[in-house]
Amino acid sequence: MSEFRVVKSIVPTHTVMEGGGFKVRRPAAMGSLMSPFLLLDEMGPVDYAPGEAVGAPWHPHRGFETVTYLLSGEMEHEDSQGSKGLLTPGDVQWMTAGKGIIHSEMPTKKMMDEGGLMHGFQIWVNLPAKDKMMNPRYQDLTAADSPIAEKEGVWARVVAGECLGVESTLDTVIPITYVHVKMDKGSTLDKSLGLDLNGMVYVFKGELDIAGKSVSDGSLALLSNGTTVNFNATEDSEFLILAGPEIGEPIARYGPFVMNTREEIMQAIEDYQNGVLA
Ligand code: FE
Repeated sequence: MSEFRVVKSIVPTHTVMEGGGFKVRRPAAMGSLMSPFLLLDEMGPVDYAPGEAVGAPWHPHRGFETVTYLLSGEMEHEDSQGSKGLLTPGDVQWMTAGKGIIHSEMPTKKMMDEGGLMHGFQIWVNLPAKDKMMNPRYQDLTAADSPIAEKEGVWARVVAGECLGVESTLDTVIPITYVHVKMDKGSTLDKSLGLDLNGMVYVFKGELDIAGKSVSDGSLALLSNGTTVNFNATEDSEFLILAGPEIGEPIARYGPFVMNTREEIMQAIEDYQNGVLA
């Protein structure tokens, strides 16, 4: 039997400048509202002039996962384990920081020299206490390899979880749904989501009806629990469907570290200062 989800509330977004002038749009309220997601940043879209592009130079993380999904532009990453990679449009990097990683996330040299359009997402996924100190790992999902689900007027990249019977190949620590959907005006989609998962939809283009409620560009719709959510595009629209379990543990957060207690945060800072975080 289907239990239909409804929109519980709509969180507006605001645009902020992160370190070095990096433009991001993010929900105006996050935290426990969005569990297990700790952060949802839409990077850009911003059209950089030559020499203008900025990124995030070397910094640490511990206790959660960072998921980068690029729509336009080029980014390069490098980390304390010696891995290096390039992200081009449609590519996803799913990094589980676990007990610790130090990395750099920068536009490519070409992007720095020539400028260009940068657009994408960075989402932070929390880990339960028992997995916070797991060994770090990377999973890359290139645009060419990523599972795409399609029906009339609907296109969806299944980064994690499932959509229209198409499943992601990524292995997530906790059950996560992360789907990028494009819908043509007039198209419809019924998306199933695990009954008890916290579900939300971030709209970044156009306007659509979600369970009968109109949600437009720059809004995060928080869903009630249920097995199915109905989408009805009233304009050409684009959005992310995100879902995951309620972790239900205390969150101690300090900059790039997300743990359960203040003591664990102090330990992370000390480990980083002593060069033993990663
Ligand atoms: Fe980072």
